[in-house]
Amino acid sequence: MKKVDAVNEDTTDSQSKNKKAVSKTKHKETVDNSNVASREAVRRSRGRRGFLSTIIELPRDIIIEIFSRLHPGDLLSLARTSKDFRSIMLGDAAEYIWRTCRSKVPSLPPPPCGMSEPAYASLVFDTFCHECTIPRARYVDWLLRIRLCGDCLLIGHIYTNRPECHGRSRYDAFLISLFKHAPKIEYRGSQIEHSDFYHIKAWNRLLDEVLPMSDDKQLKEWEQKRQGMDDDAAKIRNFFKVRAAGHKDDLAIVRAERIDAIMAKLEVEWSKELTPEIREFLKNHKLVSQPRALTDRIWKNIEPPLIEILQKERDVINRRYRMWE
Ligand SMILES: [Zn+2]
Repeated sequence: MKKVDAVNEDTTDSQSKNKKAVSKTKHKETVDNSNVASREAVRRSRGRRGFLSTIIELPRDIIIEIFSRLHPGDLLSLARTSKDFRSIMLGDAAEYIWRTCRSKVPSLPPPPCGMSEPAYASLVFDTFCHECTIPRARYVDWLLRIRLCGDCLLIGHIYTNRPECHGRSRYDAFLISLFKHAPKIEYRGSQIEHSDFYHIKAWNRLLDEVLPMSDDKQLKEWEQKRQGMDDDAAKIRNFFKVRAAGHKDDLAIVRAERIDAIMAKLEVEWSKELTPEIREFLKNHKLVSQPRALTDRIWKNIEPPLIEILQKERDVINRRYRMWE
């Protein structure tokens, strides 16, 4: 017994030593791998920096030509990589570079009146919130030219549905004529939809501008200028609406292709079970009806649950046959 225990102890001891050795080797491999990865990252970064520093040594005309071929979003990223690039992109040739890049985005309207090309590119292609700076802020007030995240939209001190009326009635005809020019949120979630929320600062600025005006001529001129700004904003808003609709169409195509691809795979072995009802059920199944292309990895994950559904259908069909036998 002792002998066995001793052997076990020896084995345990040797296993433990082996484990330690394996662990050490693994650790060493991990360290080696991470060293290789970090060396590779440094090399790539140096390579990129080297490439960028080579560009800056080129003649200015060529640099401008290279920059003018980029997408405005890439140009924004590049402008943030070095002072030299930024000075070119914001220097004499800035308007030309940014305008040329912008013109490569099909149907994107020109900047609204009074807005520079670089500022417009930042408003359209940067995604950080102008209030809290978090990325992926989706809401843009094209009239006010600000981008906001969902959280900031809900903060009461930015927008209000009870704008200051300076002692006048909310239904005062003059104020109503101004409300249509005020930057506002048209939609704000299901609980408080159908209510207009006005940008507080912009509304107060607008009143400060308009209320001191004493004659109709002044007011008319202001309204004409304002209408121009509204029209510019509407053009950009419309561009994004059309683009979003196009994106939806693209997603619908990807979804349809995925459904077809899955059905084709299932047909091979399960054609009998793929009755019109099951086919319809699968087409609307959450694993099938998705706007993501079917890859080998996705198929590997979704195949078992789909087969399970078809297996149950096969059992039902077999039971029916047995009843008729
Ligand atoms: Zn925010």
